[in-house]
Amino acid sequence: MTQIEASAADRKAAVGAAMAAASKAAGRPIGDTQLVAISKTRTAEEIEAFIDLGQRVFGENRVQETAAKWPTLRNKHAGLTLHLVGPLQTNKVKQAIGLFDVIETLDREKLAKALAAAKPDNAALPQLYIQVNTGQEPQKAGIAPAELADFVTFCRDLDLPIAGLMCIPPVDEAAGPHFALLGKLAAAHHLSYLSMGMSADYPTAIGLGATHIRLGTALFGPRPAA
Ligand SMILES: *Cc1c(COP(=O)(O)O)cnc(C)c1O
Repeated sequence: MTQIEASAADRKAAVGAAMAAASKAAGRPIGDTQLVAISKTRTAEEIEAFIDLGQRVFGENRVQETAAKWPTLRNKHAGLTLHLVGPLQTNKVKQAIGLFDVIETLDREKLAKALAAAKPDNAALPQLYIQVNTGQEPQKAGIAPAELADFVTFCRDLDLPIAGLMCIPPVDEAAGPHFALLGKLAAAHHLSYLSMGMSADYPTAIGLGATHIRLGTALFGPRPAA
């Protein structure tokens, strides 16, 4: 076993144990929460160590990086699911539709319109989650909670396949209240999926109903400085 494989196995086992404990504490079946392995900046070799361990769901934050890494990986390994978790520019919508199964970062009307316009004739769009700016941070992407109802209507009128909500809480606040708010909003709009919780707070997110947790460093180790 290589060092990369050994480290991947250890980290995945630790995350699996923590997920099981958090699910049990919340009275939820462990299968209710999907682990999305956030593989931004990671090499194909690092990613394949997780594929070999049975991980099938991954997330990336950039279209260009995904186009460079994933077509080869998808050719080699069947059954992979890929989530976009970073901002999407409208000029990259066509490319993103071809690369991703889920786009978690629908965050503005202009992007909703571009997705509707780019829908392939003979195929479905990726599943879409709306990013909600639960902390109302001016520098952060996402729909303000008070504007979500109108935005959901706008997207449904465009026939977009809205399946869930996603949030990234402010770094300097407890995440729990943000996760609880996202859960309430999803219930109010009859959306099934809740993408919330990262390496630092995923047990809290599982306790508050996360269906998808997005883990980078907990699985792959510290990210090299950009
Ligand atoms: C990088 C990233 C993650 C993973 O972050 P970690 O703290 O490394 O687990 C999750 N969500 C988004 C949107 C990200 O960009």
